[in-house]
Amino acid sequence: MPIVNRVADLHGEITAWRRDLHAHPELQYDVHRTAGSVAEKLKSFGCDDVVPGIGRTGVVGVIRGRKPGNKVIGLRADMDALPLEEETGLPYQSTVAGKMHACGHDGHTAMLLGAAKYLAETRNFAGTAVVIFQPAEEGGGGGLAMVKDGLITRFGIQEVYGMHNYPGIPLGQFAIRPGAIMASADHIEIAIEGKGGHAARPHFAVDTILVGAQIINQLQSIVSRNVDPLESAVVSVCMFQAGHTDNVIPQHAKLRGTARSLKPKIRELLHKRISEVVEGTAKLYGATAKVTYTFAYPVVVNHERETDFAAEVAREIAGFDKVDTDVAPLMGAEDFAYMLLERPGAFIFVGNGDSAGLHHPAYDFNDEVIPLGTSYWVRLAESALTG
Ligand SMILES: [Zn+2]
Ligand SMILES: [Zn+2]
Repeated sequence: MPIVNRVADLHGEITAWRRDLHAHPELQYDVHRTAGSVAEKLKSFGCDDVVPGIGRTGVVGVIRGRKPGNKVIGLRADMDALPLEEETGLPYQSTVAGKMHACGHDGHTAMLLGAAKYLAETRNFAGTAVVIFQPAEEGGGGGLAMVKDGLITRFGIQEVYGMHNYPGIPLGQFAIRPGAIMASADHIEIAIEGKGGHAARPHFAVDTILVGAQIINQLQSIVSRNVDPLESAVVSVCMFQAGHTDNVIPQHAKLRGTARSLKPKIRELLHKRISEVVEGTAKLYGATAKVTYTFAYPVVVNHERETDFAAEVAREIAGFDKVDTDVAPLMGAEDFAYMLLERPGAFIFVGNGDSAGLHHPAYDFNDEVIPLGTSYWVRLAESALTG
């Protein structure tokens, strides 16, 4: 079964919502306009319950089927944009300087709203569909905030599903895999202290810039020499701050970066080795270095049964050969991971076609994805909730 007819009828309306969201991007938890618009629409669709303020600015809509049933499933979208200057030149481009929907969360929110409209209109299922709109996916842990605020227990959610658009996967296709599909992402902060001094008298100083450079090099031995070559891991140093001029050896230096992996044991290894390498290297040069390693988003782990089910629904929409069920995991992260730690479910990618990449200033969500993504949501709910 391809695109749902009624969803095809809604394509124009959902596109208009998407472009309105695109023109008004908001960051992190500060998604008041977006959340307000989502809540207002959910009410106008006749959802049985609309609850704002879950996880600060998250919104939840409850839609009960017209057939008897106790099963409750959660469908989740994210609402936040990125601190980025848009360079698309589109007629609906961001109206807010320095903010942009560069990850397609405008599309995710619009598609789930479209699904909510359809589901509230037709209610052709047994049980309850809970639509979840979360803030702060881009680094703020809004998914965790909603979970901590009782999202799962309060609405009795038994299974939970998520979706993300994927530039590079052709339009009309889906991709998924059981098990780890996106990486854990942890923050590394390193504060180096040496001994400042005159640039012409380095022998009286401990040069934090040299120490920082050595630390950066040594950190790259962890993935290449400590991690099993058959496993996946990333250690990237993305910030190095030290010094202000050309004739002073700075007393302090600061590094920041990220550590990513697909398994808890590799994550633990990275944590342990990063501390050892940093502290050991600093000591070698007579400096000190303090590592602050912050465990952030966990691995997104798809559950087997729900992944099979999600792939089956995607095949119904897109066609049997249009669903890759063995897509390579991404080393990017997603805080939908927190919801999957609470309940079984699956996270699926929907092809965004040949667009600029996520987080790129020329990226735009592809509105042709809307009928597919929205049809996926409504068929997923109807197929999961058969009583
Ligand atoms: Zn993103
Ligand atoms: Zn995203």
